[in-house]
Amino acid sequence: MKTTKRTFLKGALAVPALAAPAIILAGTGPARAAAHAPMSAAQVPGYYRYRVGKIEITALLDGYMPLPDEFVFGYDEQAARAATAQSYRRFTPGYTNIPVNGYVINTGSKLILLDSGGPAMAFETLGGLVENLRAAGFDPSDIDTVLFTHFHPDHIGALLDDKGNRAFDAATLVCAEAEWDFAHSDEVRNAAPESFRGFIDLVRNFVASYADRREMFDGEKELFSGITSVPLPGHTPGHTGYAIHSDGESLLIWGDVIHVSTLQFAHPDWGVVFDTDPSMAAQTRGRMLDRASADRMAVAGMHIDFPGFGYVEKAGNAYRHVPAPWMPA
Ligand SMILES: [Zn+2]
Repeated sequence: MKTTKRTFLKGALAVPALAAPAIILAGTGPARAAAHAPMSAAQVPGYYRYRVGKIEITALLDGYMPLPDEFVFGYDEQAARAATAQSYRRFTPGYTNIPVNGYVINTGSKLILLDSGGPAMAFETLGGLVENLRAAGFDPSDIDTVLFTHFHPDHIGALLDDKGNRAFDAATLVCAEAEWDFAHSDEVRNAAPESFRGFIDLVRNFVASYADRREMFDGEKELFSGITSVPLPGHTPGHTGYAIHSDGESLLIWGDVIHVSTLQFAHPDWGVVFDTDPSMAAQTRGRMLDRASADRMAVAGMHIDFPGFGYVEKAGNAYRHVPAPWMPA
């Protein structure tokens, strides 16, 4: 008999009917009306270990936030639907959920928190970073350095606790000088639209309690053993990635080079309204995607699907993201 799609399906559907008497004979008892446990509706704790030579990195999930379509420069619904289908994601009309990640980097001598998620007051689906930090076996007082890719609200959220106090008692804040200066420029604040001023004030408030214990750097520098700053300007003037090297292995944590994986690997020219200099951000993104794909670099990002580790492959005139395989701790 020729197997057509229909006869194959008919055959497949027949199997459970044949198997049913055997299950009853095996003594599983009568069919139950409900499962023994309710649906959980909660995810598992959001942490994951990744190793670069002798350096251990723990990805922490802060949560996710919906990014409205109109916040994406270049957005086109038909192209977005195609890109979403191509990357096996669910299309949501009007917005795309984007994850927010932070990373703990343990060099053996330093315990660094790189970015700290967003405040729950901005979105109720954010603000989970400290809970996941604890689930991963750390206490906030263990962190000796809080390091930043840039100062946007979805990256500084855990700096203060619920009472507005400094959450990382023992930590020194480390950032690019250009980023500190940009966030504290009254010229920038005065020129910003009213809706963005609250955003700037929120950032200033969150970093203020670390102002007396901060270290700033400029350009490309080895800041800690195995960790080098990589300027990636455009999204903000001081936007910085960090290259981690140990024992011949490497990883670049590139901050916000990509905000919407679903759309921007397929359309690298699409930006977001939060880009301070959209054309420079697009140039930086193009350069990084090209380099990452050509060099088969391991990369991670704050808005790449948790835990955010992976690779970039060339796909026609654009790119696609390949998540890194699971690895033992
Ligand atoms: Zn961000």
